[in-house]
Amino acid sequence: MDTLASGRQKVEFVDLKAQIRSIREELDVAIDKVVDDTCFIGGSVVSTFEKHFAEFAAAKHCVGVANGTDALYAGLWACGVGAGDEVITVANSFIATSEAITRTGAKVVFVDCDKSTYTIDIEGIQHSITDRTKAVVPVHLYGQPADMDPILDIAKAHGLYVIEDAAQAHGARYRGRMVGTLGHCACFSFYPGKNLGAFGDAGAVVTDDAELARRVRMFANHGRLSKYDHELEGINSRLDSLQAAILDVKLRHLPSWTLRREQVAARYSAALSRHCGVPWARPDSRHVYHLYVVRLKQRDQVREEMQRRGVACGVHYPIALPLLQAYRHLGHTPSDFPVASVLQHEILSLPIHGHMTDAEVDYVIKTFVEVLQDLSVKPPASVAA
Ligand SMILES: *Cc1c(COP(=O)(O)O)cnc(C)c1O
Repeated sequence: MDTLASGRQKVEFVDLKAQIRSIREELDVAIDKVVDDTCFIGGSVVSTFEKHFAEFAAAKHCVGVANGTDALYAGLWACGVGAGDEVITVANSFIATSEAITRTGAKVVFVDCDKSTYTIDIEGIQHSITDRTKAVVPVHLYGQPADMDPILDIAKAHGLYVIEDAAQAHGARYRGRMVGTLGHCACFSFYPGKNLGAFGDAGAVVTDDAELARRVRMFANHGRLSKYDHELEGINSRLDSLQAAILDVKLRHLPSWTLRREQVAARYSAALSRHCGVPWARPDSRHVYHLYVVRLKQRDQVREEMQRRGVACGVHYPIALPLLQAYRHLGHTPSDFPVASVLQHEILSLPIHGHMTDAEVDYVIKTFVEVLQDLSVKPPASVAA
């Protein structure tokens, strides 16, 4: 654990330095090979990673793209989503989810989140379906799968596509099935801070559907599959070889890093459940804890005081998507999203990553409990009762 100038201990929110240190030699070898081969776009490094990531996700096909937002855009496009369509998604997510929908020309329809998992509310989906609804984009938020079976039932009944936003959920499982194989396709981000992260931007779409994979690959590479046979205008959104080489090295370590995240989460929950709302993980699923999010009053003061005592926390996300300035034109008010509009003031993300030491975990717990006491933050009603 590092220390601040004041001599206090310091815990990073995500410690990429510790991660890279642990596999530096393997990374250097992989990077050198790409540089020596000068094959920077496409080639075997990219197809090897795509093969490995498809295996990891238990899907038949994987198409690497430039980032997770493009993965969503290409996945939606490949499902035929476009102008005149409506696409349903959840109010608490990162803006990339809804941005990708809008970019296809479709209209975003926001639904509130479930009050225990914070993933998309099933009844809300049912109430939002119209003749124009084309797809649903559930987000496996914080690393926990959305409640996919009822979503898939609704989609089947109404002929809708399901595009999973799995940007935070590499390796998560829903009732024994891997995230990424549940909907028509699933979109991953390899942004550096994600559970599997590149040295820059990167992403992928995985699917069992060969035609969907072909369409994604074509769209993301200027509407072509070979050199100059452009079937249509697409975009330039390719996974580059350096990122693929780095991701392929890290992918080998991801299972053990994920286990560590689960251990950290278990220690947090055991120590903190008397003091604040702790994540509720579905017992039939695997939560991979991209984020460990607690719920409490006086969130902003607690966050500030944690920061002062050397513990970096985050808020994911401080403003529900439909209440952002970017969506003012939709005319929503907080009362349209009773859960998300309250959550945004009460959620706090504690540090979690695959290289946290026990000493760091203990320091976060000790500091958090002291801060709650010092600020007289009351435990949630469910705990106090
Ligand atoms: C990170 C993220 C994305 C976007 O991924 P980028 O690679 O940053 O474009 C999309 N959805 C969610 C839920 C994310 O967390």
